Amino acid sequence: MTILDLLDAARFDRGDAYAVGDITYNELVARSARVAAGLAGLGIGRGDRVALYSENRQGFVDAYLGALRLGAIVVPTNVLYRTSDLGHVLRDSDAKIVIASSAQRSFVESLETAPPVVAIETVEAWAAGAGDHHPAIALREDEIALVIYTSGTTGRSKGAMLAHGAVAAIAMQVATAWRWTSRDTLAIALPLFHVHGLCAALNGNIAAGGRILIDARFDATATLQTLRRDDVTMFFGVPTMYVRLLEALGDASAPNLRLCVSGSAALDAAVFERFRERFGIEILERYGATEFGFALTNRYGGTRVPGSVGIPFAGVSVRVVDADGNDVSVGDVGEILVDGPNVFSGYWRDAEKTAAAFAIDADGRRWYRSGDLASFDVENDVYRIVGRKKELIISGGFNVYPREVESEMDRFPGVRASALVGVSDPVRGEIPVAFIEADACDPDALHAFLQTRLASFKLPKRIHRIVALPRNALGKIEKHRLAEPLETVAT
Ligand code: AMP
Repeated sequence: MTILDLLDAARFDRGDAYAVGDITYNELVARSARVAAGLAGLGIGRGDRVALYSENRQGFVDAYLGALRLGAIVVPTNVLYRTSDLGHVLRDSDAKIVIASSAQRSFVESLETAPPVVAIETVEAWAAGAGDHHPAIALREDEIALVIYTSGTTGRSKGAMLAHGAVAAIAMQVATAWRWTSRDTLAIALPLFHVHGLCAALNGNIAAGGRILIDARFDATATLQTLRRDDVTMFFGVPTMYVRLLEALGDASAPNLRLCVSGSAALDAAVFERFRERFGIEILERYGATEFGFALTNRYGGTRVPGSVGIPFAGVSVRVVDADGNDVSVGDVGEILVDGPNVFSGYWRDAEKTAAAFAIDADGRRWYRSGDLASFDVENDVYRIVGRKKELIISGGFNVYPREVESEMDRFPGVRASALVGVSDPVRGEIPVAFIEADACDPDALHAFLQTRLASFKLPKRIHRIVALPRNALGKIEKHRLAEPLETVAT
């Protein structure tokens, strides 16, 4: 099964219903067929890489579906990428063309060597025009649909290959777990170049046969306005969006929604509680990554446990293992491994990194090493993500899990967000150093507050106040950008 099969299923069932904004399922299919014909006219065919470098707009959806229809491989590219990262993605993926919006075009053209650019306006004109329809071809499930470059916190970003079967599996998994139906209208302001916006929101909507409203960017006041529409039933966002929505709501009455999903970074338990109080909704947190879409989700029907990521999606298996790859005792922290039809095929043209990304068990089963640390909470019957393995701080032989310290710091009045990083230290190996995002905050008072709540080895040895923590396009804190300057100073 492919996402195009799911699109067809929705079209045959409810062709006149809205699919994306004011575009119906019938129109969406016709648009993709015309875009496929336009791309074929430029010599694009099966297996060719088509890079998409654009903000959210209808042309993004048309280009994506049109390229897939041809059997081409879509390379969604972060619009915040500038010449260095963009050059890497285009060279590494060996893209045959780039579909770019006029706002992004100049960066493509400033590259020394770049594939030809097709304006997204051209794609939109093909989609809306009366041109030829390219017939659907029979795609295999193991053919690659997407190469999505990972955030690249360490070294150059790698292209994660998601096959058509995995893309469809992810869409079905989220639709099933979240009881998504054709009666739902989802509002998002997530970028479509990321797996959260593309694979959960857009593709999940296609699998459910519902309607999606896609904003170009997140603006809490504007999004709140959209959420007040009678037909809107769901919202998906990253944790910072929920903080901003709470601020924007103020004392006003909350919109009436069925489901709010959070992911891509840990959702603070305090935000979960405040949202429940003000919006009357328990945010459903899930855990995912570019390499496997999504693995764990809080229960739709059952209890949603703040600070937890719930249970595996249908068809997903997870294990929690120690450094030797053995399962840890239930309740202990270890790396979380993932297997299922949603897992990626490997890194694009990188057999070495692909081999390193998987652990093979005694039965020959391949498990993706997520690099995330997790534990199973027996009492609540849910998994908890403790943090990234690489971000674990080992200070004087003790493990400091940044997430635990950050959630305490986030409780302190005035702290909007925080990040704990390890800095090398001649005596302890590493020491925890904190960055807090706040307009004003007394570090001594914060330190005293933490002293009553955390073991001494977990306490930050230095606290830096910062007006805005560095974040990526999804609002995720980029810790490597905090740690690097400090380490340079320390040497
Ligand atoms: P990306 O590939 O950019 O989607 O980033 C995936 C990473 O985001 C994961 O490996 C986790 O480290 C992190 N992540 C995603 N969802 C959650 C969550 N609910 N809680 C904590 N971390 C998360």
